[in-house]
Amino acid sequence: MAVSDHVDLPTFMEGVKKRNPNQPEFVQAVQEVAEDIYEFIQDKEEYHAQQILRRIAEPDRVVSFRVCWEDDAGNIRVQRGYRVQNNNAIGPYKGGIRFHPSVNESVLKFLAFEQTFKNALTGLPMGGGKGGSNFNPKGKSVREIMRFCQSFMTELYRHIGADVDVPAGDIGVGGREIGFMFGQYKRITNQFTGVLTGKGLEYGGSLIRPEATGYGAVYFLANMLATKGEDLVGKSAVISGSGNVATHAAEKIVQLGGKVLTLSDSGGFVHDPDGFDQEKIDWVKTHKTHRRGRIQDYVEAFPKATFHEGKTPWGVPCDVALPCATQNELLGEDARTLVANGCKALAEGANMPTDLEGVHVFKAAKLLYAPGKASNAGGVAVSGLEMSQNSERRAWKEEELQQMLKDIMFGIHQSCLTWGDQGGGYVDYVKGANIAGFKKVADAMLAFGVV
Ligand code: NDP
Repeated sequence: MAVSDHVDLPTFMEGVKKRNPNQPEFVQAVQEVAEDIYEFIQDKEEYHAQQILRRIAEPDRVVSFRVCWEDDAGNIRVQRGYRVQNNNAIGPYKGGIRFHPSVNESVLKFLAFEQTFKNALTGLPMGGGKGGSNFNPKGKSVREIMRFCQSFMTELYRHIGADVDVPAGDIGVGGREIGFMFGQYKRITNQFTGVLTGKGLEYGGSLIRPEATGYGAVYFLANMLATKGEDLVGKSAVISGSGNVATHAAEKIVQLGGKVLTLSDSGGFVHDPDGFDQEKIDWVKTHKTHRRGRIQDYVEAFPKATFHEGKTPWGVPCDVALPCATQNELLGEDARTLVANGCKALAEGANMPTDLEGVHVFKAAKLLYAPGKASNAGGVAVSGLEMSQNSERRAWKEEELQQMLKDIMFGIHQSCLTWGDQGGGYVDYVKGANIAGFKKVADAMLAFGVV
């Protein structure tokens, strides 16, 4: 069959939209990947004939379930839980669990789809999955969170396993929640296996897992700058978010000689013209993670800073930017502002924080722009290393892990250069990441035949 007989990109996307009604985030993620993959496979008949892209964009399965729990006042509460197992062509499904009121099937399908390419980019044997619930941990007591996690795992346990599907944390799910879920898994199955990553160090967790996503994103940023003979020393950075990824990205920027000007949460952003040093970052970590506080309280502790309610930080002039909060937090207009203000490089810590219009603005401006599937892969990479340590029943040293993380981020950057170099000194990192991730998964799928 001639290539010209195959459906074109608009027709393919029409089909995706029709099959996934009311799932805008999923359609957006597929569109972003398909734009690059269509060009790549135009002269590669077997990918067409075997319908590889169509198959990757259809999750292996989506499990949806009821999660009942009792709050402290004795009320029965009902939430919806999910696990999306997108693709396990190159290894067990792997991807985080998100607890946030915005969680729905579309959001988790987009995350599981993205995760498939990201995990392939790390070079480790991991397929793509994602899960979560519309449970809102904000304002809940520790006991309520524990009861919810236990109830969630009481259903999830039958769908996961160390060689089947290995979840980790994501928004709203940190070490504490992983501990509650692991405890419940162990109680139900009477098995101590590496079924979750992001565990505590006492029970099979890996050093530097909490730091890995933020640190990795900054390593990736440094790799991009190095292609222009530059580094982070003296560079100003604008960061969104104030959770796990944002605070560790801020920490690494400071360690590498940069100056962090902003952090944010869903209430707005804080601008500290003196920069966030380690002491201030530690304050944010404690305040946001342990006290579950709001970022606006920062200005009381550090009065030179200002709080901008309901705003995102993209209007603050900077050399580099790291969106590290959530999807679609940086729109086309924000992208134009960043470019106009002289931003040189942007690495996504969050998943799909830039909308499609913003991606097109960055590409047109030939900015050093790294999509999350490349630049935030450090977290899942160290999760993969946690799985290896669990299988070996040993724990590697911090220096070994730090070096492995750096090497993996360097390797992902190289893959992006291989497939994304457009000549004239411009690298399209989105295209590079999409093609490198796709090719690995696609070639494994070709080997399996039609399954
Ligand atoms: P956390 O829960 O630790 O922090 C999330 C941060 O984002 C908080 O500051 C939160 O503010 C803010 N946020 C959440 N929703 C919104 C919103 N709608 N508008 C503005 N701000 C918002 O999550 P992580 O740091 O772990 O995750 C952040 C991003 O990084 C996500 O996209 C996640 O998928 C991605 N990621 C995380 C990895 C990890 O290892 N943890 C790995 C790879 C990617 P508030 O407190 O007000 O809710």
